[in-house]
Amino acid sequence: MVIIPDKMRAIIKEKPERGAKLAVVNVPKALGPRDVLVKIYATSICGTDLHIYLWNKWAQEHIKPPQTMGHEFSGEVVAVGKEVSMVQVGDFVSSETHIPCGKCKQCRTGNMHVCQHLKILGVDMDGAFAEYIRVPEVVLWKNDPSVEHIWASVQEPLGNAVHTIFVEDVAGKNVLVTGAGPIGLLGIEVLKTAGVAKLIVSEINSYRRNLAKKIGADVVVNPSQESLIDVVKRETNGDGVDVLIEMSGNKKALTDGLASLTPGGRASLLGVYNDDDVKINLNDLVIFKAIRIYGITGRKMFDTWYKVGALLKNKKLDLSNVITHVLDFENFEEGFRLMEEGKCGKIVLKL
Ligand code: NAD
Ligand code: ZN
Repeated sequence: MVIIPDKMRAIIKEKPERGAKLAVVNVPKALGPRDVLVKIYATSICGTDLHIYLWNKWAQEHIKPPQTMGHEFSGEVVAVGKEVSMVQVGDFVSSETHIPCGKCKQCRTGNMHVCQHLKILGVDMDGAFAEYIRVPEVVLWKNDPSVEHIWASVQEPLGNAVHTIFVEDVAGKNVLVTGAGPIGLLGIEVLKTAGVAKLIVSEINSYRRNLAKKIGADVVVNPSQESLIDVVKRETNGDGVDVLIEMSGNKKALTDGLASLTPGGRASLLGVYNDDDVKINLNDLVIFKAIRIYGITGRKMFDTWYKVGALLKNKKLDLSNVITHVLDFENFEEGFRLMEEGKCGKIVLKL
């Protein structure tokens, strides 16, 4: 019998202002019939958590404090609701963070990642920066016991990378990744498994350019110092790259990335642009070059999770360079500082 305490530590967004606080809150023990209570081993910091911490415009529009932050985690099932059948107490799990309604057209046609009534852990409900989290069983993913706790924690952003990269054929192709933030870096590690001919990475931050090189990019470009388009031409016999993986959310990276594509090339866009109204020259960059563009949101549920799970289980990925910091849970302020300064890859908090 596992004894579940009544109170727990949690990192919460207490007030509608910059910052976060370590607090003592109730363990969410009241479980609906299909709910699961998970004791968290490790939880990682996402760009969304930083937005909530900094209290930017997006956070102000989406978050209602007080609320427990965080959504990426790994942990152990400690209690299950009456009708739960997919997991049991003792299972080592992680979780999809997009909670689908199960009833809309998308959910019923194999596209629950674009559910019309999607709810997000740590955004629309209490999250994972805590000792325990309550989640519906539909989003849980059973980890292979051989996977390290801290690696299992980052499967959600890793799934973003896997989904973005594998929607197009990258084997034997010249590939450009724009933006080597935490997800771009995970993407480089994924691309190494995929038989890419040449991997070019563009990143403005020197710490992350160094990491990109260390993880295995063939060519690393600083687009603030040299023309990305020229470098790509030089590196591809003047042809341009076959595939663009846009992971910066920067408009210049998007337009230069599209301009760096060979005619007939493919682009997968994960980056989210601050300016909702990004304007590009569709005629020159897309139509007359016959470019195919994929917009990527989240992960395919659960197709992407099977891929991520199998890559980890079979030791095809080494996340030790991408996860640059494993901090004590209570040292979260340090994690947010590093994220804000961009002096990190992925940061994991250990409980
Ligand atoms: P991040 O913001 O930490 O990383 C972006 C990186 O791009 C940074 O390292 C930054 O220095 C770099 N960059 C900025 N301008 C650049 C330029 N002109 N050229 C090259 N690099 C440039 O973000 P992340 O957590 O790694 O996520 C990547 C992107 O994906 C973000 O835009 C994020 O909002 C988005 N995202 C989308 C989804 C989705 O479902 N579509 C999910 C998660 C994250
Ligand atoms: Zn739905």
